[in-house]
Amino acid sequence: MDHNITYQTTAVNAEPNARKPAEGAPSVPAPIRSTSILGVRVHTVTVAETAVILDRMAAAGRGHLVIPVNPEMIVAAQGQEEFRETLNGASLILPDGTGVKLAARLYGHRSTERVTGVDTLDGLAGIAMRRGLRLFLLGAQPGVAELAGETLTARHPGLVIAGCYAGSPSLAEENDICRRITDARADILMVAYGAPKQELWCARNIPRLPVRIAMCVGGSFDFLAGRTTRAPHWMQRMGLEWLYRLLQEPQRWHRMLALPKFAVRALLECATMRSIHRNP
Ligand code: UDP
Repeated sequence: MDHNITYQTTAVNAEPNARKPAEGAPSVPAPIRSTSILGVRVHTVTVAETAVILDRMAAAGRGHLVIPVNPEMIVAAQGQEEFRETLNGASLILPDGTGVKLAARLYGHRSTERVTGVDTLDGLAGIAMRRGLRLFLLGAQPGVAELAGETLTARHPGLVIAGCYAGSPSLAEENDICRRITDARADILMVAYGAPKQELWCARNIPRLPVRIAMCVGGSFDFLAGRTTRAPHWMQRMGLEWLYRLLQEPQRWHRMLALPKFAVRALLECATMRSIHRNP
């Protein structure tokens, strides 16, 4: 494919269906490259660029939603309009998962790196510590967020954990949870309710929360709390983290069926785009 081709390359906040930042909120200054993979916008960033973008959001933003996406989420979003719109309306959609990185590269965005939720969470905790911002950890099983908070404060001495709360993503609990986050004067919120619950929870509640950034973190608290372990580096480098997770949690096998679906659909979409490009 011609390396210069980019599909739907847009600036954040210039996206027509992007959720508007809260009133008076400065937009993210630099345009962020993006592409569309099976109808889901993905920012085709590197790890270093992500750190700069998050630092800018933390410095001056309000109500930014950050979502790492993997192939499973993109396949699910194809059949769930509300989920797809939530993803497409977020301020930053990170290419988590080797499949998403490879698809973005195939679509012409050659510099795209895999930017994982768990590494980004750690980077954001470092930003919070340096800027004196307060972190709230929401979700996971009772006690897990507290343990994750301890790991983060050990890694980033001086980091302020404004609160930890398991709660649940049910509608009935939303008012109570939002009050807790507001009372804790949280600046940055991390939500671990699994996809798509955590993304929908954030989209519904960010407008009434004081936070600068809300990030969906999936099973990251479980990693930080030592409840689950990450794949060895060689497996991560070979794009086999999904296999390690499958061996750890075999009950997830049916969720892995999304991976071949994603590969086939992304290849077909890419082939279609190439043929349109050749024969406009
Ligand atoms: N989780 C939760 N409440 C729910 C569903 C999930 O607290 O109703 C938590 C779960 O305990 C785990 C996290 O959400 O800590 C991520 O779940 P999952 O492994 O399904 O998400 P993934 O990492 O695959 O996105």
